[in-house]
Amino acid sequence: MHGRVTAYKMRRNELILQLGARCEICGSEENLEFDHPYGRDWVARKQNRLHRLRLYARDYAAGNLRLLCGPCNKTHPPLFGDFDDLEETRP
Ligand SMILES: [Zn+2]
Repeated sequence: MHGRVTAYKMRRNELILQLGARCEICGSEENLEFDHPYGRDWVARKQNRLHRLRLYARDYAAGNLRLLCGPCNKTHPPLFGDFDDLEETRP
């Protein structure tokens, strides 16, 4: 069944709201992705999504997480580290 609200989606949406729910650069509210402006010390691919979300929350608490829309993310590489392996935040 589609449309079931999972704990993962609820927590992810909370984090998106905490981040302002819009692109930090252009203000778009669509195709938002998490971005680590200062890079990160973990690999998203190797985490299950709930654990990944905990890491995003931790990085948010440390001031190292922002929202960018897809187009801005592609044109604004992080200040440090590799290009982020981004997760779509579309519900
Ligand atoms: Zn943007």
